[in-house]
Amino acid sequence: MSVNRLVEKFKPEHYELKLDLVQAKNREFNGIIDIFGEINDEKEIALHSKDLEIKKITFANDIKLNFSKAENDEILVNIEKLNFKKGDKIQLKIEFSGKITDAMHGLYPCYYKENGEKKELFATQFESHHAREVFPCIDEPEAKATFSLEIRALSDLEVLSNTEIIEKNENGNIQQVRFAKTPKMSTYLLAFVLGDFQRVSKKTKSGVEVSVLATKAQKSELMEFPLSFAVRVLEFYEDFFCQKFPLSKCDHIALPDFSSGAMENWGLITYRETALLAGKNSSISSKKYVALVIAHETSHQWFGNLVTMKWWDELWLNESFATMMEYLATDALEPKWRIWEEFAVNEAVLSLRRDAIDGVQAVHVPVHHPDEISTIFDGAIVYAKGARLMNMLRKYVGNDAFRKGLQLYFDKFKYQNTIGDNLWDCLSEASGKNVADFMNPWLFKSGYPSVLAEEDGEELKLSQKQFFIGEGKDSGRIWPILLGSNQNNLPEIMDSKDLTCKKSPDFVQLNRGNVAHFITNYSQNLFENLLEKVRNGDLDTISRLQILQERSLLSRGGEIPSVELLRTLQSYDKETSLTVWDMISLLIGELKIFIDEDSESSKKMKKFVGNLAQNEFEKLGFIKKTGEDEEDTQKRSSILAHMIYAENKKAISGALDIFENSPNMEDIDPEIRSLILTVKARFEESPELVQKMLESYKNTSNVDYRDDIMVALTSTKNILTGKLLLEKMLENDIIRTQDIL
Ligand SMILES: [Zn+2]
Repeated sequence: MSVNRLVEKFKPEHYELKLDLVQAKNREFNGIIDIFGEINDEKEIALHSKDLEIKKITFANDIKLNFSKAENDEILVNIEKLNFKKGDKIQLKIEFSGKITDAMHGLYPCYYKENGEKKELFATQFESHHAREVFPCIDEPEAKATFSLEIRALSDLEVLSNTEIIEKNENGNIQQVRFAKTPKMSTYLLAFVLGDFQRVSKKTKSGVEVSVLATKAQKSELMEFPLSFAVRVLEFYEDFFCQKFPLSKCDHIALPDFSSGAMENWGLITYRETALLAGKNSSISSKKYVALVIAHETSHQWFGNLVTMKWWDELWLNESFATMMEYLATDALEPKWRIWEEFAVNEAVLSLRRDAIDGVQAVHVPVHHPDEISTIFDGAIVYAKGARLMNMLRKYVGNDAFRKGLQLYFDKFKYQNTIGDNLWDCLSEASGKNVADFMNPWLFKSGYPSVLAEEDGEELKLSQKQFFIGEGKDSGRIWPILLGSNQNNLPEIMDSKDLTCKKSPDFVQLNRGNVAHFITNYSQNLFENLLEKVRNGDLDTISRLQILQERSLLSRGGEIPSVELLRTLQSYDKETSLTVWDMISLLIGELKIFIDEDSESSKKMKKFVGNLAQNEFEKLGFIKKTGEDEEDTQKRSSILAHMIYAENKKAISGALDIFENSPNMEDIDPEIRSLILTVKARFEESPELVQKMLESYKNTSNVDYRDDIMVALTSTKNILTGKLLLEKMLENDIIRTQDIL
């Protein structure tokens, strides 16, 4: 059932919100809100309010108004007796109270330990429709308004919100804090946090004060890297979007309990601790992850916060865009990471696999009720495929036009709400191309084509059809395919079923850079030419990745036999790239699933994997060399994992040696720590070891280390360990709920 759009009856303009959180420890709060706005219905105003006790609603401080509760978290305020006309301005005052629960949305407590002492802090999570759990409002993205927030709380807690503090009074152990009025914004982006934090800060070139905050249980050395990246990425976007960040400060805060990865609240971005904190001793993949998340959330400060979707239908636009931008920005700031290669592994694999299943959702889906967002939004489609399509569009219109189009878009729609077409119009204007025509066939329906590429003498023949993994009905759809070929005689876009041209040059490659959302099925000869280039080291990393990806898909889709995939992999025994190895590892992992342990095939597979990884194992060994390439450091653990799977004696004994020679497990090189602990747990498990690991898990605040212990313990084959682990999970004092879910 569709929900009513309350903004149609009443358009809020400003909220004056006073919250009394002195009793937060007792899980209670009180509030008074003044809502200013324009009426469009002379009889009633409908507001969202969930689990709040509404005590009194008045107009102009003294006229009491009657109200009643309705479905979908609505309260209906009868304003008939005020005799207002449409377009009149009104001010409602509402007194209310509420409860704080552990739901991890609305206003909720986070639990942690500092020096063994149990502590708590309070945070908010309002996306998608949880502001209504903290104050009555029109909780819809289109109902943009300004907010002035005042919080009364115990003095020993620091209070933060979207904007800077403009007034603070202390009286005994109680403080009253008032924040600067926010820009015009949606309710889901409002946030506040109360707790005892440490902070590092730095100003951007344009004077925005950027801070990273975490509880004092965290090591302060984990805050410098995120701070430096957060400053640089904000500067990058101000320049890229040609649009100044509108607030005076931007806080990035790590919370001990957080239901998703991060949330882009305007000026007060909240994160799960692992998504924000990383230092010089963290693994490189942790740092890359942190950088990508910061870049993602910071891009939302413009795309999402400054310009917001009209309704949740268009949430895909926010997320697709931010996911693409996180790579674009990170690549600009840390080019040595070659982060687009990871895009090719993460987002491309995820989306190509999911989108090949018949009946999967399209990027654009109708949302009738905001409750649906958490259930119908498929990350592989909305984030990964969406980001891939955005990137394809960027290639189609060109970088400069893409950027110019965005600048137009922000200029035209800032502090407003939009739909996808508004963006397409700006990009069309900037590029002179019809962007809607190009994008809509990809967005409104699921699926993508495979292009069969065959040679016929001097000719090259292409034909497109929908690609499926599993059953699927081909409805003869034709996509506008951005071919990205190396061929002189092929057009930019293939918009017909078949296409023939004279081959030139002889070597054929489509979709270079793996930018467009399709795969190529090369005929035998054409594919042999490609493989030869792989063996000779003549293809770039993304192409080598793409070949593996496409072969794996074609084999899953039954278009080539699966033994072909092994044959393809054989050409990669001199592979050195980290991302290609990630892909190889993924494919090997999947092939292993179909092989029974201890069978003849399993022995063959182990030998195959051992041979494939041998060169890299010889080169990398166990110990990080001084001045070593970062990629080698990162690759080491997966190469070692392959050699251990292959039961290579040198690899297993090497791992056990490292364990024996490390008095403190936490001090093992974080790049291989998970593997070393896993080898120990798998090959030399004992009750003492399990106990030692659980103790360590309980006593450390190092989140990466905790993850490593979890991996090691869950890899054991011992049923008793599994049982013990389950018991500990249930006592969630030791294992955090967010680590299980
Ligand atoms: Zn996002």
